[in-house]
Amino acid sequence: MTAVSVRVPAKVNLQLSVGPLRDDGYHDLVSVFHAVSLFDELTATPADDLFVRVEGTSAEEVPADDDNLAARAARLLAERIGVRPAVRLRIHKAIPVAGGMAGGSADAAAALVACDRLWGAGLTAAELAELGAAIGSDVPFALLGGTAIGVGRGERLTPVPVDGRFHWVFALADGGLSTPAVYAECDRLRERHGEKVRPPEASDRLIDALATGDVKELGSALTNDLQPAALALRPSLRRTLTVGRELGALGALVSGSGPTCAFLAESDAHALDLAAALSDAGVARSTVRAYGPVPGAIVV
Ligand code: ATP
Repeated sequence: MTAVSVRVPAKVNLQLSVGPLRDDGYHDLVSVFHAVSLFDELTATPADDLFVRVEGTSAEEVPADDDNLAARAARLLAERIGVRPAVRLRIHKAIPVAGGMAGGSADAAAALVACDRLWGAGLTAAELAELGAAIGSDVPFALLGGTAIGVGRGERLTPVPVDGRFHWVFALADGGLSTPAVYAECDRLRERHGEKVRPPEASDRLIDALATGDVKELGSALTNDLQPAALALRPSLRRTLTVGRELGALGALVSGSGPTCAFLAESDAHALDLAAALSDAGVARSTVRAYGPVPGAIVV
């Protein structure tokens, strides 16, 4: 085999409920992940050693060495099956870097799928997901795709039935936000406000809206516990969200740890109008449209 290319989607959290801090430093989460049609593409080819090349949007902000999550995934898989990680990984990025859309996790998932195929390993989906979880909490979802509830650190997944397709506009921001910094700010704000943090649960309203394809209901059921922290660290996002709502978005929220903002549109045509209006309003570096749910990492 000479080359394997894998396409892998970004995610938005339709619900992100952050529970108490655990002893291991992670938070117990309930996350409703939703994979959207904004894709990175990774191509794996045989080589003498492990090499990474990153191109596309904000490629210069992504490490092209062993710190790249795709490289870590390839090494982990090689170790697991007892081969040398002799592979060149070319990553074409479209998912915003440090944007709260799990682009790094997506590339790790893509590397697992590509190298598994290239090396003829034939691991099961469950085995790949287990390796993925060792790299990052969002990697198992990037493998699975669709819409799913994640519990634990977000890595234990149950697929959620969805009727139809939802249309989104994403407002991309200048510069990223560090996920650990956003969680730390969330803890700090909660402590300052003396908030009692309860164990999180999936929202029945959200799950029903997905099952029935009720886009208006979905729009009003979107929640993200990290949003106050992301807004505290990046106050300009408040205006981005407000303008999006004023322009007719059915729902507006920060995606994951931000700073990307997600806007739910009524239809594809509405998303087109909304994207143009958000760009004209000057509240985003750029906007992209996408729909969901879409499948997880697949060989193309
Ligand atoms: P999440 O939504 O999972 O919290 P994110 O979307 O905010 O993550 P990523 O784009 O995954 O953030 O990247 C976070 C950091 O990880 C980047 O700043 C970068 O230094 C590092 N990184 C390592 N590998 C990659 C990769 N393949 N693509 C993007 N970033 C990577």
